[in-house]
Parts: sequence; C-alpha cells; structure tokens
Amino acid sequence: CGIVGYIGEQEASPILVDGLKKLEYRGYDSAGIAVYNGSCIDVMKTKGRLKDLEEKLEGRAVKGTAGIGHTRWATHGAPSDENSHPHSNGDETISVVHNGIIENYMELKEELISNGYVFLSETDTEVAVHLLDYYYKGDPIDAVIKVMNKIEGSYALGILFKDYPDQLIAVRKDSPLIVGLGKGENYIASDIPAILQYTRDVYFLEDGELAILTRDEVKIINKDKEQVDKEVFKVTWDV
Ligand code: GLU
Repeated sequence: CGIVGYIGEQEASPILVDGLKKLEYRGYDSAGIAVYNGSCIDVMKTKGRLKDLEEKLEGRAVKGTAGIGHTRWATHGAPSDENSHPHSNGDETISVVHNGIIENYMELKEELISNGYVFLSETDTEVAVHLLDYYYKGDPIDAVIKVMNKIEGSYALGILFKDYPDQLIAVRKDSPLIVGLGKGENYIASDIPAILQYTRDVYFLEDGELAILTRDEVKIINKDKEQVDKEVFKVTWDV
C-alpha cells in the first residue's frame, strides 16, 4: 500500500509509476494512477502488479503533469479492477487515493446512497470521494476539511479536483504521508524512497494537517485553515 503524487512540468505518469515501484516493499495487490490531462481526470488502474499497470499504460498512455498514484493492500473489497484506486465521484471531477481504513464507512455509505450516490466498488475509500462531492460547493479545501471531520479511522489521502487542476491536496491521520519539495514541482508520498531521486527536501505531514501543493508552492494548514510553519527535513541517506 502506497501513495505517490506529482505536480510540476514533467509527465506525471512515469514519475508516479516509478515512485510506486519504490514502495513495492510495502506490499500490494493492485495499482492505479489518475492524471489531469488538460480537460479531464484520466484514470488507469488494475488488479495485479505494477507491470500490469505499465502494460495497460503502454496500450493507452495517460498524459498530464499533475497526478496521483496508488498501490492497494485490500482491506474492504477483494482485489479487483473496480476496487483498485484511484476512486472517482459520479461525474469524475474528483479523484482520490487512500491508504488506511475508514472505520465508519458503512453508515456513511448508507447516508450517501439515500442521497442518491451510486457506488462502483466495495471499498471503504469510495465513501470519501462521494462525501467530497457532497460537500464540494466550489472550495475544495472546505470540502476536504468537512470530510476529515466526518470520517473516522486511518487515512492518507491524495486528492485531485478537476476544477482546480493546478492543485494537489493531501491529508493524513494515522497513516504516513510526506511532501517532497522540488523546483517548479512538488510531490507527495507514503515514504521517502518514492521521491528520493527527485528531491531530498521533505515535510512530514502530521495528523490533521492539509498539504496544498501547486507547482511552485506547498502550503500546510490545519483544519481551522491556519497556516502551519513546517521545518524542511533534509534527507542525507541513500536507498
Ligand atoms: N481500505 C482501502 C481499500 O481497501 C485502502 C487500502 C490500502 O491502504 O491500500 O481499498
């Protein structure tokens, strides 16, 4: 299970797949990526190994310079293409990768279904993306904070909003997530090896913090939208 995210000027897809490979040691049963391609969020995912994802990507490239990637260690719902991440809302304007377990997903799922939401997977994760859709009224940060206040359990989330293609949002609680600081590009990842070939400057995200990444800037705020001043950690070791 691992998360990688990229926003910058390079093609995101090879960076995402490469980062996920570096997280292979964490174990996984499926993999996928979502990339904003200039007009929509393009998702490619599959049960199986990263090799299977790469083969699919050779058949149909996913192009764009902002994206999120995931390797899944299934906890809710068997390994399958449908249960693989990223997960999207109905009109595919929001895309989410998640590591962890949303403990209260059953009641949230029932609420969402009674509000007309249609679920395509058996994952706990999918409630997060429909909840984002439910709370999204034009401000992605507001929606993310509302979701953080609603879901219980553990999560590292990477989130893309089609309306805000120049922005990548990451949050965590009880699941690891770091931010990698580049020049004209920034990263998120579950662990340092995923991004070490691109940058040695990282932020460790704490529980309850939101990282808002653009190409040129990383802003960290708390759930009260107050700016959090982070120290840059310099990685001195090699993998
Ligand atoms: N609970 C989620 C799922 O089963 C995420 C698992 C993970 O951390 O990879 O899809």
